[in-house]
Amino acid sequence: MPPESGATPNAGAGQTVVITGAAGFIGSHLSDALLDRGYAVVGIDNFLTGDRQNIEHLQRRDFRLVEQDVARHIEVEGPVDWVLHWASPASPTDYLTFPIQTLKAGALGTHNALGLARAKDATFVLASTSEVYGDPAEHPQPETYWGHVNPIGPRGVYDEAKRFAEAMTTAYHRHHGLRTRIVRIFNTYGPRMRVDDGRAVPNFIVQALQGQDLTIYGDGGQTRSFCYVSDLVDGIMRLMHADTAEPVNIGNPDELSISQIAARIIEMTGSRSRIIHEPLPVDDPKVRRPDITRARTLLGWEPRVALEDGLRETIEYVRRKLR
Ligand code: UDP
Repeated sequence: MPPESGATPNAGAGQTVVITGAAGFIGSHLSDALLDRGYAVVGIDNFLTGDRQNIEHLQRRDFRLVEQDVARHIEVEGPVDWVLHWASPASPTDYLTFPIQTLKAGALGTHNALGLARAKDATFVLASTSEVYGDPAEHPQPETYWGHVNPIGPRGVYDEAKRFAEAMTTAYHRHHGLRTRIVRIFNTYGPRMRVDDGRAVPNFIVQALQGQDLTIYGDGGQTRSFCYVSDLVDGIMRLMHADTAEPVNIGNPDELSISQIAARIIEMTGSRSRIIHEPLPVDDPKVRRPDITRARTLLGWEPRVALEDGLRETIEYVRRKLR
């Protein structure tokens, strides 16, 4: 594997990164990794779904917090080398609770973050999503697949905002010559996911640890491919330093059914919980697995953390949170 050009200690010395959504699950891990490499980080968050505890430990480092909604005009003083747009509700239950904010973070927020990048002559990185593929008719999903999305379904507020965000980012690249990157993030898990964020992994772990029934939506035959957060962050750092404006899938191609992941969590927690079935949410994708050929070829990236190891860390985290 070629070395990751941004991974060397001090690769970021003298450079400033603005990251929106810095207090979120992925945003806070990215902030850690950037600080470790010597970047100064300006984190923007309005704490709609972010958590102050995720960034408490950053206050002692070269990290500055700006508390604001990215749907409003963004001003940052001084030079900026990178703008990473991560702000958005990202769990299906969150974007059902905050549909308008989700649309605004993906649409207005992306426009504002692009405007900041352009004003500062910074490189822009968009957190996009496997949701741009919707309930996919092609499997696994390569970046060349255009997707199968219901614009007016309950997930449309997230999917369409992110599709708009990709279109806007690409327009800034083509029309203004802005340096841009687009990462399509597939299901990711790890410490700092909100224990109540509603997604499968934290839900199942909380339920297993508390001896409640695990709620499988539908028959549990639907599949996802779960990537541990440190692998994702490594992929993002590599993409920052790769010269491509094309979208790149970052995710783990190990595909499991939801029943399988629930069983693994019951086994690993030693829980006596049982499984119950609840209705499948509308437009819930039946399958999902990234084709990561592009990430392998362009970035020399592939995931390294085994599900077992990632789950162990995540279970420990949730255990501490529930104390
Ligand atoms: N899911 C489930 N039980 C839960 C939470 C989620 O069966 O308590 C299912 C959900 O219907 C979906 C899959 O697990 O098929 C992954 O859901 P998640 O919310 O984690 O993310 P998604 O991949 O749908 O964005």
